[in-house]
Amino acid sequence: MVDYDVLVVGAGPVGSTFANYMAEEGYKVGVLEKKKNIGLPLQCAGLLGAKITKINDLPDEFIINKVRGAYLHSPSDHILKVSKKETQAYVIDRVGYDNYLSQKAQDAGAEILLQHKVSDVDTSSCKVKMANKSGKVLQSKIVAGCGGHSSVVSTAINNSRNSVNAAQFLIKMKNNTLETDFVDVYVDEQISPGFIWSIPLSTSISRLGLFGHHDYKKLNNILNNFINSNDKFQKAKVINKYHGKIPLFDLNKKIVENRAIIIGDAASQVKPTTGGGLLIGFECAKFAAEAVIESLENDDPQLLKNYETSYKNKFLKELKNQLEVQKTFQELKNQELDNMFLKLKEKGAEDLISSYGDMDSQSLLVKEMIKRGVLFSVLPQLLYRRMSRLWNSF
Ligand SMILES: Cc1cc2nc3c(=O)[nH]c(=O)nc-3n(C[C@H](O)[C@H](O)[C@H](O)COP(=O)(O)OP(=O)(O)OC[C@H]3O[C@@H](n4cnc5c(N)ncnc54)[C@H](O)[C@@H]3O)c2cc1C
Repeated sequence: MVDYDVLVVGAGPVGSTFANYMAEEGYKVGVLEKKKNIGLPLQCAGLLGAKITKINDLPDEFIINKVRGAYLHSPSDHILKVSKKETQAYVIDRVGYDNYLSQKAQDAGAEILLQHKVSDVDTSSCKVKMANKSGKVLQSKIVAGCGGHSSVVSTAINNSRNSVNAAQFLIKMKNNTLETDFVDVYVDEQISPGFIWSIPLSTSISRLGLFGHHDYKKLNNILNNFINSNDKFQKAKVINKYHGKIPLFDLNKKIVENRAIIIGDAASQVKPTTGGGLLIGFECAKFAAEAVIESLENDDPQLLKNYETSYKNKFLKELKNQLEVQKTFQELKNQELDNMFLKLKEKGAEDLISSYGDMDSQSLLVKEMIKRGVLFSVLPQLLYRRMSRLWNSF
C-alpha cells in the first residue's frame, strides 16, 4: 500500500501549481519541502509576462507594479526605447505568490510537509527517502521532481546539470526618479549572454540584478561598480542583497524516467535569453498533470511520455531559437554591441521591436528582422549566417 498517489518534491511555484492540479482531481498528493518557510529567501526579479493571467491564477494583491516597455542600453549607453500601450509584464511579490500557490494546493487537499528534505529517489519503486536522521521513506505511484536547479529527482535521471549564478540588490534611489512602467536592460560582454536589469517597484525602489558566468562575489562587485558609475543609479542605497541560480536550458535533459518526471527549473524549462522560468514552468505543470492523470487512470507509466511530447510540441522550437539568439549575443564584443544598437536605431528597429517583441518568445521578432533585412545589416556576417539558419525553422 503506497502512502500517496503522487509525491511532489519541492514546494516552489511550479511544484505547488502541479500539486494543486492533481489534488483538485481528487488524487492523494504529498508535497515535500526542505525549507521551513516557503518562498524564502527571495531568488527572483518577479517579472512575469502579461500572459501569466491566461496561464495561472495571479490575484491582484501580488501585483506590485505594471510595466509596458523597456530601455535597452548598449555598453556605451546607446539606448533603444521599446514599448506598447498596454501592460506587457507584471512585477510581483514573489514570496507572497509562492505562499499563495502552496496554500491553494493545500486547500485543494494536498498535504504540504515542510522541513522534509529528500535525499534519494528510486524512480521505479517511487520510494522517496528523507535526508534527516530518521531516514524516513515514503512511497507513491508517481514522483514529480520540482526541486529547482539542484533537484534530486533530476539528478537521479540525468548525469549533468548546468546553471549560471544570479545576484540581485533591492535598491532605494535618492529621489523619486524611476519611470515605473519601464524596465532597464544593460548588455555588456563582461556578463554576456547575461545582462543587468532594473525592475522598478515604485518611483524610488528597484530590483537591480544580473546573471552571468561568474561567482556571486564577482557578480556583486559588478553590481556595486554599476551603481557607482551609472548616472541613473548613483547614490542609490542597497537595502537588501539576494542571489540564486538559473539553470541553463538543456535540450538533452531527460524529463521522464520510469515513474518519475521533472518539471520547472528541475527540468531546465527556462528561457535561454532571459533566464525566466515561471511562465514555462506553469504551462509544463499543466502538461505534466494531464499526463500523470492519464497514467494513473490507466495504470500505465508509459503514458507519462505524453508530458514530454506536449512540452516539446509547445516549446522546443522557441527554446532552440532562443539558444541561437543567446549564442550569437555571447560572441559580440562591446564595440560590436554598440554598433549594433546604433544601426538598429538608424533602421527604425525600435518600432519593429515594439511591434513584434515579446519577452517570452523572440522567434516572431527574429523572423521579422531577417525578413526585413535588419539583422543582415546589424550583425557581423558570420553571426548573421548563424541567425539566418533559423529562417528555415520558422
Ligand atoms: C535572481 C533571479 C531572478 C529571476 N527572475 C525571474 C523573473 O523575473 N521571471 C521569471 O519568470 N523567472 C525568474 N527567475 C527564475 C525563477 O525564479 C525560476 O524559474 C522559478 O523559481 C522556478 O520555479 P520552480 O518551482 O521550478 O523551482 P524553485 O522556485 O527553485 O523551487 C524549488 C523548491 O524545491 C525545494 N527543494 C529543493 N531541493 C529539495 C529537496 N531535496 N527536498 C525538498 N525540497 C527541495 C526548494 O527549497 C524550493 O522551495 C529568476 C531566478 C533568479 C535566480
